[in-house]
Amino acid sequence: MKKVLVVEDNEDSRELLCAMLEDSYEITSCADARSALALLESTTLLPDLLLLDISLPGIDGIQLLHRIRSSEALAGIPAVALTAHAMKGDESRFRSLGFDGYVTKPIVDESQLIRVMEYLIHRGGKPTS
Ligand code: MN
Repeated sequence: MKKVLVVEDNEDSRELLCAMLEDSYEITSCADARSALALLESTTLLPDLLLLDISLPGIDGIQLLHRIRSSEALAGIPAVALTAHAMKGDESRFRSLGFDGYVTKPIVDESQLIRVMEYLIHRGGKPTS
């Protein structure tokens, strides 16, 4: 099973994401960037994909990704931005910030989320549809 790290401060959203994904992925979840960084730096967890909420207390998802991208060991992990702010221009903004994908909350179509995740996890190979 592919490993996915979910960083989401809202408990309901975090639990919903875990419930949606736990049959298909090995999920580790954190409520803030600090614990995510501590986990990534101190353990052998090397996720295949990151699902990062943008609006997090303290270090936000954009700064968290920046920290991850500056680590040689973690720089190549694909990252999906999770955000409720569905504003025009956001997708290109998040891509320019280093995110590989973008999903708007609330997630109503879990198959769409999984499609984005599968594409990014297997990019370089064939996307599984
Ligand atoms: Mn949040």
